[in-house]
Amino acid sequence: DRRPLIAGNWKMNMDHRQGITLLQKTVWTLQDANHDFDRVEVAVFPPFTDLRGVQTLVAGDDLPVAYGGQDLSPAESGAYTGDISGQFLQALGCTFALVGHSERRTLHSEGDDVALAKVQAALRHELTPILCVGEDLEVRRAGTHVAHTLDQVHAVINELDAATVATLVIAYEPVWAIGTGEVAGPEDAQEMCSAIREAVRAQHGDDAAAGARLLYGGSVKANNVAQIMRERDVDGVLVGGASLDAAEFASIARFEQ
Ligand code: 13P
Repeated sequence: DRRPLIAGNWKMNMDHRQGITLLQKTVWTLQDANHDFDRVEVAVFPPFTDLRGVQTLVAGDDLPVAYGGQDLSPAESGAYTGDISGQFLQALGCTFALVGHSERRTLHSEGDDVALAKVQAALRHELTPILCVGEDLEVRRAGTHVAHTLDQVHAVINELDAATVATLVIAYEPVWAIGTGEVAGPEDAQEMCSAIREAVRAQHGDDAAAGARLLYGGSVKANNVAQIMRERDVDGVLVGGASLDAAEFASIARFEQ
């Protein structure tokens, strides 16, 4: 079931008060427009410090949105100063966790081994991992972006079973298109998502390939989302900057209108 997924990664924006306001406005805007949340899933990724407030709001008002952590520790508990366990995220009602975002890979030197351990930690706590992959500008210019990105995918999916991979979300986010206003063309998104789906199929078979949801991320806006979502292997988008504006993010979620 590849239900379209529109995900907003707030990154290190919005304190816990601002986060509540943003989420309320976003959901109200969507509800006013009669958005069908069962058909097009909406999820947000607030900073850790916002999650308790988000949980209270979502549970209290029975809001039809999912939420998750922007990261999680590969470990369960113990002497890991500054880290957050998947167990804590689950206890706060999270159903997703971002793993291996390029900003984690670059700014915190996280490699594929760390991404794998975090995916496994998420799965232990019934969190759906959104594994982020993608090449930087240098790799893109060298023309080896598909091989590079598939290496990141293989490092994780080769260690999982087919039934698990069928539930996975993989987000292709070319680093050169993140926060730059530079959008990969819809055909670039499709090229990579199709390559990822074929890699999943080759490794785990048709059911896994038919189940795994593939997202595109990088300068997605209300005015370019429709053409990206039209691509056959793109099942959703992971939105950074434009998810910080309730009206903009709501219109991204309503890409069909
Ligand atoms: P922007 O939408 O701001 O380019 O960020 C994309 C991203 O990194 C989402 O995770």
